[in-house]
Amino acid sequence: MNVYDSARMADILKPLGYTVQNTPENADLIIVNTCHIREKAEQKLYSDLGRYKPFKMSKQAKGEDMILAVAGCVAQAEGEEITKKAPFVDVVFGPQTYHRLPEMIARAHRATGKRNVLDVDFPVESKFDYMPKPTADSKGSAFLSVQEGCDKFCTFCVVPYTRGAETSRPIQAVVEDAKHLVSQGVKEITLLGQNVNAYHGEDGSGKERTLGDLLFALAEVEGIERLRYTTSHPRDMHDRLYEAHRDIPQLMPYLHLPIQSGSDRILKAMNRQHTGDQYRAIIEKLRTYRPDISMSSDFIVGFPGESDKDFEDTLQMVRDINYPSCSYSFKYSIRPGTPGALMENQVPEEVKDERLQRLQALLREQQLAFNQQSAGTIMPVLFEKVGKHEGQLIGKGPNLQSVYVEGNERLIGHIENVEIIAGHQNSLEGRIVTIS
Ligand code: SAH
Ligand code: SF4
Repeated sequence: MNVYDSARMADILKPLGYTVQNTPENADLIIVNTCHIREKAEQKLYSDLGRYKPFKMSKQAKGEDMILAVAGCVAQAEGEEITKKAPFVDVVFGPQTYHRLPEMIARAHRATGKRNVLDVDFPVESKFDYMPKPTADSKGSAFLSVQEGCDKFCTFCVVPYTRGAETSRPIQAVVEDAKHLVSQGVKEITLLGQNVNAYHGEDGSGKERTLGDLLFALAEVEGIERLRYTTSHPRDMHDRLYEAHRDIPQLMPYLHLPIQSGSDRILKAMNRQHTGDQYRAIIEKLRTYRPDISMSSDFIVGFPGESDKDFEDTLQMVRDINYPSCSYSFKYSIRPGTPGALMENQVPEEVKDERLQRLQALLREQQLAFNQQSAGTIMPVLFEKVGKHEGQLIGKGPNLQSVYVEGNERLIGHIENVEIIAGHQNSLEGRIVTIS
């Protein structure tokens, strides 16, 4: 979502003459787009700001100017606090107000002395109504935001406080953006939302529709060859979505469906509002609708009160489900203001470390086995970039496996059939079998 938001900020600033630079030294404007989900991400902001400060100073010494801005969820959560800790920051704005960036920058330019432009509103108007159509880069795939915010209040998570309440964009607005992306050469669209399968956008007649309905509408758009969506919540799986997995060939056979923990006790304390068995039933149903679907998940180890037995339940869940695709696992990080932060039975850091290592070793085992099983198969690969070695291309298979081949750069943004020669830990080695 932050990658997407940053690209939208660049789109908004383009008419003002700003272009994206690869290095910060001589920039006229630096925007640090931040994440607040774990403490580490937050700490990174201040070390990054420390790094950028001398660039601003040296520009000012030459009589030039630089605006330093902080965007995203840390900005939302800390607001003015940021300019207190880092007084050289000029502009601070949250994830729901970046459509007002041109105005904020103009205000910063007009200000004499300390600028201190702050905008961390949750405005009634949707930023999407004010934004230019998204620009695609050349790699053939693009993100498209369809839903934002969250009303679920898991006890570990800051998202409901920083991104605000759940909102969905209308079906028609999403379809129009999708058509625009296709006209720019995009073949694969990943629908984004903090809780994307809670999507409830309106159709043309004002009726609320589900993510399943949205996928069926997008499947009609000529030129979209691949659809994906992320991130989903187990409680929001619905019948139309299962049908979408069964009936829409463009919907790729891969789903990231976070479970967080395999223990019912911990799931309850996390306020996830489902049990381990309900999650197992969801996966079973999905696999009857789309047998080749592969799964990944997010996991948190060391949530307050997590015992050895609770952690064993998580490992058992991983063995039962099998998560061959790229999962994410984190040590529980205390987030001020969330109920989890007030829980007394916090787990010691070294226990979290040890559990994280065991969990990741099991996930790596499953990923390697899956990648090795892919050897000898032929799969369509969307090429996205050149590799580290001369003449190498890197792309994605249907299950989001990373595939590298020898190939011509002009294939970037195109889908080709690839025969898989070998499966490694994080990638597949292949050779192109057809060139269209
Ligand atoms: N809406 C999605 C997840 C969004 S946050 C869902 O409900 O599954 C992305 C991931 O960050 C979460 O799945 C969780 O694994 C992790 N995360 C969130 N808060 C965290 C915290 N306080 N400590 C550690 N990991 C956290
Ligand atoms: Fe955070 Fe996801 Fe829970 Fe919402 S559903 S509170 S985004 S973990």
